[in-house]
Amino acid sequence: MNIIMLGAPGSGKGTQATRIADVYNIPHISTGDIFRENIKNGTELGKRAQEYMDKGELVPDEFVCDLVIDRIHHDDCANGYVLDGFPRTIPQAEIFDKAIANAGEKIDVALLMELEDEILIERMEGRRVCAKCGAGYHVKNMPSKVEGICDECGGELIIRKDDNIETFKNRLVEYNEKTAPLVPYYEKQGLVKKIDGKKGLEPCWADITGILDSLK
Ligand code: AMP
Repeated sequence: MNIIMLGAPGSGKGTQATRIADVYNIPHISTGDIFRENIKNGTELGKRAQEYMDKGELVPDEFVCDLVIDRIHHDDCANGYVLDGFPRTIPQAEIFDKAIANAGEKIDVALLMELEDEILIERMEGRRVCAKCGAGYHVKNMPSKVEGICDECGGELIIRKDDNIETFKNRLVEYNEKTAPLVPYYEKQGLVKKIDGKKGLEPCWADITGILDSLK
């Protein structure tokens, strides 16, 4: 199953994508995680991406598309994948659509996590990530067992550099301008399924499994 996660920053895409990957046994491909890994490793791509990420801006399309198109053709994607944070613009979606059509593949569903801006900001403020493995937490909604320590790997939980109010507001502006147009784009292809993010983690998960199981 080839799945795209749509939704504003902080809408819960990453959390649900991680769970989808675990349960449906497909890789979770997060372009944000790929960039953060490159930043950590001091690669050329990481250095160039960081300039944009620190300001809450999108990284230019040409840095992103080839990277994802190459990634989905790795062996572990034979049964599908869940894309989180890609595509982020109409040109990215068009390039991606063309590439997968050429390979005789298609997207099965685009899951849209819907949430109001005030709740997004509230969620962002409590968000923590593991500095070592990237696992996501929330101080209230999804706390780790031991405060400040990752359940998965024992790494330190930190606040993402772009999770501060100024940068986050910029990310929301970028989302509304450049990413939100993907909703009508995929609606035209009949692929969008909406999830009411307000309902919370478990009810959203129940909706998602209902949708994905109906596609099997
Ligand atoms: P995320 O972890 O998905 O919230 O992404 C963090 C940041 O990485 C974004 O604010 C962008 O600067 C950059 N980024 C991630 N994915 C993309 C993408 N598909 N296109 C452009 N920039 C991206």
